[in-house]
Amino acid sequence: MTINQRCCISCRRLADKSEFWRVVRLHNREISINYGMGRSAYVCQTEKCLLVAEKKDRLSRSLKTAVPKDLYQTLKKTLMTDQSEISASVYKEH
Ligand SMILES: [Zn+2]
Repeated sequence: MTINQRCCISCRRLADKSEFWRVVRLHNREISINYGMGRSAYVCQTEKCLLVAEKKDRLSRSLKTAVPKDLYQTLKKTLMTDQSEISASVYKEH
């Protein structure tokens, strides 16, 4: 595992971190996608891994905070649209 490799929270695949969505718990406990510093969880940019993460609540477990359903919805939408749109998304906890 090199310094730029990360592990998907759903399928445990190892790959370069650029291949994943990075979901970040910011220091103020807000959740962001691909933005900011804080505890991070990585998930493949695929519907399959997103669904597993949602069903098993993997992101919440990994980040040790409740991840809003909206976040999963946003990621699902980006599978069909322009990925750059999510870069500045920030989610409040509840
Ligand atoms: Zn995966």
